[in-house]
Amino acid sequence: MTRRGGRAASAGAGRPTANLGVQRWCRSATLEGNTTVTGTTKVIGIIGDPVSHSLSPQLHNAAFEACGLDIVYVPLPVGARAVGAAVQGLAALGLRGANVTIPHKGAVVPYLSSLDDDARLLKAVNTIVVDGDEMRGYNTDVEGVRGSLEEAVGAGLHGATGLVFGAGGAGRAAALALARMGVRVTIVNRTAAAAERLAALISAAVPGAGCRWLALSDLTAAEVVAQRVVVNATPLGMAGAGKVPAPLVDTVTAGQVVFDVVYTGGETDLLAQARARGANVVDGLSMLVRQAAVAFELWTGERAPLKVMQDAIARR
Ligand code: NAP
Repeated sequence: MTRRGGRAASAGAGRPTANLGVQRWCRSATLEGNTTVTGTTKVIGIIGDPVSHSLSPQLHNAAFEACGLDIVYVPLPVGARAVGAAVQGLAALGLRGANVTIPHKGAVVPYLSSLDDDARLLKAVNTIVVDGDEMRGYNTDVEGVRGSLEEAVGAGLHGATGLVFGAGGAGRAAALALARMGVRVTIVNRTAAAAERLAALISAAVPGAGCRWLALSDLTAAEVVAQRVVVNATPLGMAGAGKVPAPLVDTVTAGQVVFDVVYTGGETDLLAQARARGANVVDGLSMLVRQAAVAFELWTGERAPLKVMQDAIARR
């Protein structure tokens, strides 16, 4: 069992607020301060398998602490067979909510009371808010993609071409975000049927989107060169997950925006090569912070401290 080094109790200094039943403690905004767990501390978790690699505990605990919120964020490893019990347990145990990560973003859906529009459309939930017996599911990954892209290139992608490699949870979020930004999206996926389904879903959901699809085996260098935005939304590039296929990595050029949803200890191979060729790169940490900021606001009703969140994962 790992002990929290040097974290001392400081419960006497608190002053409650009315906000969502969460106590606010009078302490300064500090990243290294004294997070305290008391009898009134609210708990938020991350459900997934595995979750040990997740940066979300660092990111959210720094944010709660900096905002003086009496909330602690914990990893909750949950196997596939325990998903229903785990989601129902959130309310039973009085948690304020949870994040959901791979592979449970779809599996949690049947256990929730309601879904926001994006979660319902994509059949993927990455954030749960618990309000008494009610559990609401949200998809904040879509805003994570939109916010990171807009930060990198502004709002000027309307009419541009974009390729999304992957049709899983991250691919669906990326395709929807890009289509809403006015990008003409092509979905590329190893399993062609999943690409076809996603293209149909996006075309139906976003008026005028006209989303295309291609099987990965049909992807050519010319197709990649024709794109203004290229997104890797597969796990390829993570340690042990294999490499992003050559037509993508070897063909990205200056003038393109290359976005890798994967986050690793350093820069992914795709982004390193794209940067070396003069492309504008967007990394998975940027998306992680953006989707986390929306989740933070859903749980607390407060504006998320973006800079604190960015610094917390930069120090990992
Ligand atoms: P997912 O739902 O399991 O989807 C995986 C996708 O990758 C599918 O399209 C799958 O294709 C494709 N794929 C997997 N292995 C492949 C291979 N060897 N060759 C070709 N394609 C392959 O996973 P996800 O939730 O989308 O997550 C994908 C990645 O995004 C993960 O690394 C995750 O950590 C990351 N992510 C990052 C953030 C962030 O905030 N930065 C947020 C969400 C996810 P098939 O359909 O053919 O199986």
